[in-house]
Amino acid sequence: MKLNDDLHMLALPIQRGDQTAYFNLSLILDPIHGPTLVDTGLPGQLDAIATALADAGVRVADLKRIILTHQDIDHVGSLHDLVQAGGARVLAHAVETPYIDGGEPARFARPEALAQRPELRAVAEGFQYTPVDEQLQDGARLDLAGGVRVIATPGHTPGHMCLYHERTRTLIAGDALTSSDGQLMGPNEGATPDMHTAGQSVQKLAQLDVRSIVCYHGGLVAMDANAQLQRVAQALAQKDDKMSGDSAAAG
Ligand SMILES: [Zn+2]
Repeated sequence: MKLNDDLHMLALPIQRGDQTAYFNLSLILDPIHGPTLVDTGLPGQLDAIATALADAGVRVADLKRIILTHQDIDHVGSLHDLVQAGGARVLAHAVETPYIDGGEPARFARPEALAQRPELRAVAEGFQYTPVDEQLQDGARLDLAGGVRVIATPGHTPGHMCLYHERTRTLIAGDALTSSDGQLMGPNEGATPDMHTAGQSVQKLAQLDVRSIVCYHGGLVAMDANAQLQRVAQALAQKDDKMSGDSAAAG
């Protein structure tokens, strides 16, 4: 789906039982610096990504860089195949890098994670560690499509980051936020080990002036994006207050 001249959202279908869900990758176009893909689906999704890219007029071999919002298997899964097929440079937050290049075992590949979700074993085994060419830090500004800002948003993972495209005021949220039918929601609590920090990251995002938000899980939020972001940030802050109140009362 073309969002504007600079950005496309690539809906990558994924079969879950008899239902089709979608991962929503982002594609940033720049006539000088070439196309940039944000996140890479599960292992084995190279062909599906190639199809989605083709809809946007881009070939895998055209990709100049791949930015990863974080280390989860559904974001880094087809990274290795994409790099093999096209030679794109890989960019990730410095904190996530070892889990992507194999310096540390990936979170999803740890024995305790696989014990909890054994159905992910085969998927996790399909992942191949891949070198990261450039490590990003909070506040970095990438010279792409007029400027893309890196916003560190820890919580879902320690080095999770969002991207903010300045001239279209589009927030590429990764898993820092989710949505359903255009309604913005907070991060998936079941998949977010540090909800307190994740909530603080949403407060940070709420400082931005956003026109639209791309959630990896749930897709585009285009209606009242600023107001929706404020609402979610407030709800998370209240929940956090209540939880710290409860634990203070208990302790
Ligand atoms: Zn995730």
